[in-house]
Amino acid sequence: AGGVEAPVRTERVHTADGRAVEVAANVGRVAELGPAAERGADGVGLFRTEFLFLDRATPPDEDEQYEAITAALAAFPDDRVVVRTLDVGGDKPVPYLDTPTETNPFLGRRGIRPSLDEHADLFETQLRVLLRATASDHGDGLAVMFPMVARVEEVEAALDRIEAVAEDLDAAGIDHAMPELGAMVETPAAAFLADELADRLDFLSIGTNDLTQYVMAADRENEGVATLHDPLHPAVLRAIDRTAEATGRTDAWIGMCGEMAGDPALTELLVGLGLDELSASSVTVPAVKARVRETDADDAAALAERALACQTREGVLDVLDRS
Ligand code: PEP
Ligand code: MG
Repeated sequence: AGGVEAPVRTERVHTADGRAVEVAANVGRVAELGPAAERGADGVGLFRTEFLFLDRATPPDEDEQYEAITAALAAFPDDRVVVRTLDVGGDKPVPYLDTPTETNPFLGRRGIRPSLDEHADLFETQLRVLLRATASDHGDGLAVMFPMVARVEEVEAALDRIEAVAEDLDAAGIDHAMPELGAMVETPAAAFLADELADRLDFLSIGTNDLTQYVMAADRENEGVATLHDPLHPAVLRAIDRTAEATGRTDAWIGMCGEMAGDPALTELLVGLGLDELSASSVTVPAVKARVRETDADDAAALAERALACQTREGVLDVLDRS
C-alpha cells in the first residue's frame, strides 16, 4: 500500500475478430508525452508543434526544435510519432510572425498556406529538423504531416521542399533520412481529393475539429452554432467515409486525429468507417482501446452503413442509441 505502481504499457489492440486498430495520442507539449505513454498510447497520432512557437518573442532555433522531436521519439521508441508541421493562423496567431489581420482568419492564411509562402524559411528549418530526427535513434517511427491542405499542388510543393532540404543536408554531409509523409484532411476540398492526395503520400489523417467546421460552415468556437459543429451530422460522416474509402483504394493508411476519435461511444462507428488509426487526448486512450477490443468489424461496418444512410444528426444519434 502507498507504493506508486509502475505504468503498464497496454498491448496493441485488435477488434474481437482480429482487425488491428492503432490508438494513439494527440500531444501539444513535451510534458504530455510521459502521461500519453503511461496511458498505453500506440505512439503519437498528432504532435502539435505550435507550442514551440507560442508565448515567446522569436521563433525557436533548429536545436530547440530537434530536442522536442527527439524527446517524442524517445518517449515512444517502438511506435510511430506523427509530427504536424507548423499550423498557425486561424485560431492560433503568433505575434512575431506578422499574421495579417483578416476578416475571416479561419478561411485565410493558415496551415500549410503560409508555410509554402510567407513563412517558407520557418518551414525549411522545420523540415531540416524532421529529416535529421528521422536519422536519429528511434527515428524510423517518425512521420510528418501537413495541416489544412486544400490542393494537390500544396502537397506537391511540400514534397519538393522536402527534396530540396534533403539535397542541402546531403551536400553539407549532415545525417538525415526520409520520414513517412502525410496530410491532414480538414477541408472539404481535401476530402474530395483524398484519392489524389493518398496516391502521393503514405497516409492521411482526418482532423474532424476543422473538417466539421468547414463542412457545416459552423465556427468551432462559436457557442451559437455548437449543435451545427457536430461530426455526427451525416454530411460530416459522409466526408469521412469518402476519405476512408478513397484512401483504402491506395497503399496509404487512414487515421483520425480530431477529438471525435477519442469518444469511446463512437469507436465502433469509426472502425466501421474503415479507420486504421484513432488519435485524441491521451486520457481517452484506455477507453477507446477497450471499445476496439469489444468491436466486431462486420457489425461495425453495418452500423456505419446505417449511420451513413441517415438524413439528420438525430437519425445518426438514434442509430448510435444516443438520443
Ligand atoms: C483538427 O482540426 O481536427 C485537428 C486535429 O487540428 P487542430 O484541432 O489542431 O486544429
Ligand atoms: Mg485543425
